[in-house]
Amino acid sequence: MKHQKKSDLPQKICPACSRPFVWRKKWAKVWNEVKYCSKRCRASS
Ligand SMILES: [Zn+2]
Repeated sequence: MKHQKKSDLPQKICPACSRPFVWRKKWAKVWNEVKYCSKRCRASS
């Protein structure tokens, strides 16, 4: 369990830039609500 593969992390597609983004620690509590890869994309939608 020490080495976590990047591919094991959940992914979503950002509707603003159409790019996949990977789960980040800062989203641990709000992952279900996360739609955009960044604040920038969120603002541009
Ligand atoms: Zn984006």
